[in-house]
Amino acid sequence: MPYEDIYRRSIDDPEGFWAEQARAIDWHVPPQSILDYAEPPFRRWFAGGMTNLCHNAVDRHLDARGDQNALIAVSTETDTTREISYRELHREVNTFASVLRALDVGKGDRVVIYMPNMAEAVFAMLACARIGAVHSVVFGGFAAHNLALRIDDATPKLLIAADAGMRGGKVIPYKPLVDAALQAAASPPPHVLIVSRGLDPDHARVEGRDVDYATLRAEHDGREVPVEWLESNEPSYLLYTSGTTGKPKGVQRDVGGYAVAMALSMRTVYDVGPGQVMFSTSDVGWAVGHSYNVYGPLIAGATALLYEGLPTNPDPGIWWELCARYKVRTMFSSPTAIRVLKKQDAAWLRKHDLSSLKWLFLAGEPLDEPTATWITEGLGKPVIDNYWQTETGWPVLTLLPGLDLKPVKFGSPGLPNLGYRTRVINEATGEDAAPGEKGVLVIVPPLPPGCMTTVWNDDKRFLSSYFGHFRELLYSSLDWAVRDEDGYTFILGRTDDVINVAGHRLGTREIEESVATHPSVAEAAVVGVQDELKGQVPIVFATLRQTVATTPGEAADGMLRCVVDQLGGVARPARVYVVNALPKTRSGKLLRRSLQALAEQRDPGDLSTLDDPNALEEIRRILERGPDGGS
Ligand code: ATP
Ligand code: MG
Repeated sequence: MPYEDIYRRSIDDPEGFWAEQARAIDWHVPPQSILDYAEPPFRRWFAGGMTNLCHNAVDRHLDARGDQNALIAVSTETDTTREISYRELHREVNTFASVLRALDVGKGDRVVIYMPNMAEAVFAMLACARIGAVHSVVFGGFAAHNLALRIDDATPKLLIAADAGMRGGKVIPYKPLVDAALQAAASPPPHVLIVSRGLDPDHARVEGRDVDYATLRAEHDGREVPVEWLESNEPSYLLYTSGTTGKPKGVQRDVGGYAVAMALSMRTVYDVGPGQVMFSTSDVGWAVGHSYNVYGPLIAGATALLYEGLPTNPDPGIWWELCARYKVRTMFSSPTAIRVLKKQDAAWLRKHDLSSLKWLFLAGEPLDEPTATWITEGLGKPVIDNYWQTETGWPVLTLLPGLDLKPVKFGSPGLPNLGYRTRVINEATGEDAAPGEKGVLVIVPPLPPGCMTTVWNDDKRFLSSYFGHFRELLYSSLDWAVRDEDGYTFILGRTDDVINVAGHRLGTREIEESVATHPSVAEAAVVGVQDELKGQVPIVFATLRQTVATTPGEAADGMLRCVVDQLGGVARPARVYVVNALPKTRSGKLLRRSLQALAEQRDPGDLSTLDDPNALEEIRRILERGPDGGS
């Protein structure tokens, strides 16, 4: 059926549309109403319905596909591969749930999970879901401070941690971070459950507080724990936003709406059905990891491929090797990861048999055209840009190859997803922007199923962060966008990433795009810095591709020419700095605010979400040394 027809129906008759979609999951008690919108913008999807995420992800599939792989966990760090059938998953999750019960965790209690991409992280999440506990997975790469912040916000009954993670062959013990976080936390949980892989066998244990999972697992193995049926709108999990723009927000997700959105998107967006394999390279600590490493594929009865390791280890073909070995149908990754691969030879993309691979989805940040072209041509597969936020839990803008694939337009994540009423609003007038005119991307409430229900414990922050920006009640994405005549939306960057050059408002994203068209450039970041004459001027930080031989000076001149040719003299960057690495958050997003602060000789601010603190040190040195190009 044509996309347009189904999309229209999802907008014109949301209750009819979602009532149909709700049939894709199991309900213990069917919804009593499809949409309760008595208190806008708060909404309750499938009110009165009783269901459970673990039941829908695991138990429901036992009869038809008990012996099919549910989860394949590959780690090139620990050199292990685990293939886990739905039946085995059921047993592991029940065992884990029984352990949680023994540690006095029950319905509504929060559980913080601090683990890398290992099978037990998935068991732990599903075990929480089974007993109605609210999990909050904290990315394993976050340091003690970040963990403590999230513990204090979520006030968990239990912390589940791995003994260690690994990155590029190096063991990163988690226990010292956990101990430091609990020391700093105002309300530490009474117990820490350590899931050890023997990576840090001598870790310190606090008597009475720390418990060992392997010991308890042996005790509880094979016990069955009944599913706790939850009202559709009760919380299922909390997930904090990346903190690119400030203090992370505790995004709260529901049960029924999320399950239905997962089922719908697996079919229509990701084109993955029962028995097929989806490989998402995300970390379980991110939104994509929750939705498409775990819940989406399992709710669909598919096989989830979970990967721990670098995309370049043991060689830059490892992801494609896994696609070939497991006949992956749909792969999901991020532009950052592809840029890492893009520094390597494109021949790695053609070494393995990718005849089963149909789609590559990329999400999380702008997909620049050169990267999109490189990967599309290299793989010979459609590459689909996905726009979403932790808040939404599934894509807002996308193409839907599972339904009706519209043409890809480079630079655009495409069209509104089913159920999303998106608009682009002129910031000053609050009116709809004309095609080609820049505005703020908003979603007209009620937000569709799957999106956040509120900010954990803070309805006021939910309202003020997202709904207080316009006269009308609209959810603001806080991202700039422009829509073309065909209804394709282009994201132009965050609303706080705009610079004002001599009265002209320029999006940093547009300049970055232009700089990146230069063949030497691997990745670019543009920030506005204060200038006496012009107010602000754009300056460029860029990394170069390893395979291109050129001097930093030549590359810088080339970048300037690209911008002048494509955007005009007004956008011409004042300075270009060639660097080895750009500062990024642990989720791979550019930290422009720190770059800008350094360039203006200010304090770079909260660096706790920074991936590699050395990147900023290098930039400090390079700023002192002077630019490679510009005036
Ligand atoms: P915080 O809200 O705490 O500052 P964050 O916005 O980085 O953190 P996420 O929810 O992980 O946290 O990221 C969502 C944002 O990522 C979007 O609002 C948008 O700015 C950017 N983004 C995601 N996908 C795309 C895409 N396909 N194209 C352009 N930008 C994207
Ligand atoms: Mg955000």
